Amino acid sequence: MVAGLEKNSLIVVALGGNAFMRKGESFDAQWRNVRIAAETIASLVEQGYRVVVTHGNGPQVGIILEWVQRAGKESSRGITLDVADAMTQGWLGYMLQQAIGNALEERGLERRVVAVVSQSLVSKDDPAWREPTKPIGPFYSKEEAEKLAIEYGWVFKPDPRGGYRRVVPSPKPLSIVEARTVRMLVDNGYVVIAVGGGGIPVVRSNHWIQGVEAVVDKDYASAVLAREIDADVLAILTDVEGAYVDYGRPSQKLIKCMTPHKARELLEKGEFPKGSMGPKVEAGAMFVEHSKNGFSLIAMLERAREALEGLTGTRIMSDCEGQDILFF
Ligand code: ADP
Ligand code: MG
Repeated sequence: MVAGLEKNSLIVVALGGNAFMRKGESFDAQWRNVRIAAETIASLVEQGYRVVVTHGNGPQVGIILEWVQRAGKESSRGITLDVADAMTQGWLGYMLQQAIGNALEERGLERRVVAVVSQSLVSKDDPAWREPTKPIGPFYSKEEAEKLAIEYGWVFKPDPRGGYRRVVPSPKPLSIVEARTVRMLVDNGYVVIAVGGGGIPVVRSNHWIQGVEAVVDKDYASAVLAREIDADVLAILTDVEGAYVDYGRPSQKLIKCMTPHKARELLEKGEFPKGSMGPKVEAGAMFVEHSKNGFSLIAMLERAREALEGLTGTRIMSDCEGQDILFF
């Protein structure tokens, strides 16, 4: 067991959206991927940890928009992005809730697991509104994109892989509306699935909150939730062993531990790109800066247990044995 990590520690486990539906995979393949995640979660619960699960929704929200758009050719009905986000929370929330429940029961544990429709509060003044950056949905030809831009007011950008994709703003989450509900459920022994797809973005004016057209980053939303429910660990699980310096080069080294300060220095140097490892490292640093004794972990989904024991994965901690960075 790791210093500072009690067996009943509260862990927020963030799962990558791509892990559920890899490029070119069929709809059914999702169940297999969800079951892998469910096994990992259930094994953590079996060890005594309390777990909150969050997940991405990039591929899924794209699919919903594509379906609606195809159907829309006949019915001329559209959909707003906040509602599409909500649909992905139901979709993946259902799959995870069932699969985690099955994996718990198989271990002789009670089926206490629930998905919560979650909203992320964002600011009307976020600079992200001025520059949409997050690509979602299918690829379009230039002509199709121009037509949709006029018809729906959508913004498109050319994709480096060819064609055009819709881009939407990705404002920073400030707070999770349902954080207290999540905490209450955890305190009652539930595994909770929350902030799916980074949460449905909402803005507040006085007593009203209202959905807006954006996609919140699930790594940032998970960090905010972890802070608000006073979690001990933010574990961001993905498809690599952890964060590397010199990633992809022969000199690459897997980071074992780094301080938030060091993490920000390496972010500045461009070691962790914006669309992938960057948000994980930044979210990890953010959580540690705001938490008393908590730490963040970036690790491979299949190796979460070993990572919690310190055998693999990258930790972000306020103290790495007196150093600001350690490597494996
Ligand atoms: P997720 O769907 O889990 O959010 P992402 O694709 O957004 O996953 O981020 C994980 C990816 O980040 C890895 O597959 C890896 O290719 C990439 N990556 C970029 N830079 C680094 C780095 N410095 N260290 C580790 N992985 C990196
Ligand atoms: Mg990602």
